[in-house]
Amino acid sequence: MSKEQVTALVTGGSRGIGRAIALALAEQADNMAIFFAGRQDKAEETVRELEALGLQALALQCDVADAQAVKAATDKVREAFGPIRVVVNNAGITRDTLTLRMSAEDFASVLHTNLSGAFHVIQACYRDLMRAGWGRVVNIGSVSGLMGNPGQANYSAAKAGLVGLTKTVAKELAPRGVTVNLVCPGFIETDMTGAMDAQVLARAAGAIPAGRLGRAEEVAQAVSFLCSRRADYITGAVLQVDGGLYM
Ligand code: NDP
Repeated sequence: MSKEQVTALVTGGSRGIGRAIALALAEQADNMAIFFAGRQDKAEETVRELEALGLQALALQCDVADAQAVKAATDKVREAFGPIRVVVNNAGITRDTLTLRMSAEDFASVLHTNLSGAFHVIQACYRDLMRAGWGRVVNIGSVSGLMGNPGQANYSAAKAGLVGLTKTVAKELAPRGVTVNLVCPGFIETDMTGAMDAQVLARAAGAIPAGRLGRAEEVAQAVSFLCSRRADYITGAVLQVDGGLYM
């Protein structure tokens, strides 16, 4: 990122990986907007941390599954800070259960948030990115989208869908100097994995060659690199940050 007024948007920036990404991008951005679903308290914490680092920061409650809400929220970001040049689609949810028992609602809601959500945000920022002559989109996928995972038909399908979305938009925007990449974390210590059954998580950790879960900051470093000028020639890439879990 260049140092002249760069505005970045991180969805799901109130907690976990999204907060770590927002903080890691602070050294490359002047203005930072985060979207969150309901945890205003956590979103305000992130804003305070960003302000302490010298940024102008804004937290907006915005359900990324709702295209109109995304359009309205990105308009607010633009009013406050100008065009959005860096977009990180990190907001995500799980509704895990075996395929046999999965309701159509739980399948759809995970698709709407994790996949359509990224589409809505990209579309709402598309003109800004196209006009700037330089920009960044990083989508947050998952190894589940690359290798499948029992109990995650909805989540794996949504994250696999992000591979196609990422590569398509990467091809569309490459001539405009905009890179679009997908970062796929493995098991990372956040509220999301904290909600998993301890035994299931311990078994999963045992399958990780690195022998441990990852930290949100380790994902954020990869995102930060992809957003930097050092990654000008990397687009359409799928980068795993998973301790070797999927190879
Ligand atoms: P958390 O559950 O800790 O945080 C989720 C974040 O997304 C919160 O900021 C939440 O807001 C926000 N969010 C959820 N739904 C919506 C929505 N509809 N609209 C806007 N914001 C929303 O998740 P993680 O930090 O663990 O995960 C972040 C991303 O990384 C997700 O895409 C996840 O799928 C992916 N990932 C995580 C892995 C892990 O092991 N943790 C592994 C692989 C991928 P609020 O705080 O208001 O609820």
